[in-house]
Amino acid sequence: MSDMKSYVESVLELVKQRDPDQIEFQNTVKEVLTTIVPVLEKYPQYKEQKLLERIVEPERVVIFRVPWQDDNNVTHINRGYRVQMNSAIGPYKGGLRFHPSVNLSILKFLAFEQVFKNSLTGLPIGGGKGGSDFDPKGKSDNEVMRFCQSFMTELYRHIGPHVDVPAGDIGVGGREIGYLFGQYKRIRDAYDSAVLTGKGLTYGGSLTRTEATGYGLLYFVKNLLDDKGINLDGKKVVISGSGNVAIYAIEKAQELGANVITCSDSDGYIYDPHGIDLKAVKLIKEVKRGRIAEYATNHPASEYHEGCHGVWNVKCDIALPCATQSEIDLDAAKALVANGCKIVGEGANMPSTLDAIEYFQANKILFCPAKAANAGGVAVSALEMSQNSERLSWTFEEVDERLKVIMANIYRNAKANAVEFGDADNLVMGANIAGFKKVAEAMTAQGLV
Ligand code: NDP
Repeated sequence: MSDMKSYVESVLELVKQRDPDQIEFQNTVKEVLTTIVPVLEKYPQYKEQKLLERIVEPERVVIFRVPWQDDNNVTHINRGYRVQMNSAIGPYKGGLRFHPSVNLSILKFLAFEQVFKNSLTGLPIGGGKGGSDFDPKGKSDNEVMRFCQSFMTELYRHIGPHVDVPAGDIGVGGREIGYLFGQYKRIRDAYDSAVLTGKGLTYGGSLTRTEATGYGLLYFVKNLLDDKGINLDGKKVVISGSGNVAIYAIEKAQELGANVITCSDSDGYIYDPHGIDLKAVKLIKEVKRGRIAEYATNHPASEYHEGCHGVWNVKCDIALPCATQSEIDLDAAKALVANGCKIVGEGANMPSTLDAIEYFQANKILFCPAKAANAGGVAVSALEMSQNSERLSWTFEEVDERLKVIMANIYRNAKANAVEFGDADNLVMGANIAGFKKVAEAMTAQGLV
């Protein structure tokens, strides 16, 4: 084993020993570190500086109690978190997730990914992530508001426009960001617009932020397809999820001429051979906050299938997982390849397990890793911060144009590093290396902090 491979192995072992139960975090650290060995060989000083040992340790983790009362005056206690992973290139930046599955391992994995993703955007933002095991599903607006106010009553002391700038993620959309911002403003008694992103348009939000992750995913995939001389027109696309990322991935895919035939939620999936009726999905999910099963009642040509996993058995040219982590396991990857899928673009964070990614690569699938392909959301969040600082609002077209340029740059940067380090089609390696190099250089310049 080369010197640097054994260095990486020793750091992976250290991570395992420190937090043996944090499986998701261990997996993402493994995914990143095993691909950057060629960079470590080129810059051996990183080993001397113990840079990897530092980069896998969050700069700070905050865990706190969130008490709140439901509409029947029953008291509930949830747990809140903020993981401030790395601030070498800018203030911590990353979403808040409200979902019963939230724990420290998942948030550390998301924060670690975020560090390199944010670096790839080319914008000055560090990496963080946070959230709670609170489940907004089935709660009234007032319950969600009381929870958000309680959550912010502790979080406010750890964030700020120059310190840490949270945004949305699963379970945290415009409604939640509004309540969180209102409480922050009330406690601080100051109008710090840039303390949160994903805000409403009437109080400092950016046009295109809602669409940015889904649109950005399609811009990334299109850059890859253009490079390979493949046309998106008429391609059958399977998409999972029906939340923020999925909805705007469907919208842009359809606009670019693709035929999107599925969407899903955690209960099941819709197959509509005529193409998903996006207006209906938006009505069910964004307005009624309902379940996707409802779609089939008004669309007789469509089918609803219980269980979200079956979506990967649908025959397609392109798969865009946009729901959650680990939704494509090895079996799902095998089914996709067997059914003729040629391209996988990750809209969700780490939706493919490590063995699924290996299987895709072994079968020459054109694979767009989340870190690069879904960076559009955070990129426009950073543009929202710029607009807040300027006290100006850019037009939809202006932000969309910048998003296109950012996604093209991310693609080119990942591709160039994949080529330079000897595996031209390996965008997992290319994206990891491109993201890592900038963070490592900044950490080195700033000394032992
Ligand atoms: P939303 O909460 O808006 O939507 C999530 C969707 O995924 C819902 O349809 C939800 O169904 C489904 N889902 C959630 N958990 C599971 C599960 N365990 N199994 C199957 N389906 C599930 O979240 P977003 O669209 O914002 O986020 C989706 C993914 O994209 C996440 O991985 C997130 O980290 C990532 N991401 C989001 C960004 C953003 O800008 N919003 C930016 C970059 C990445 P149900 O309603 O049943 O829960």
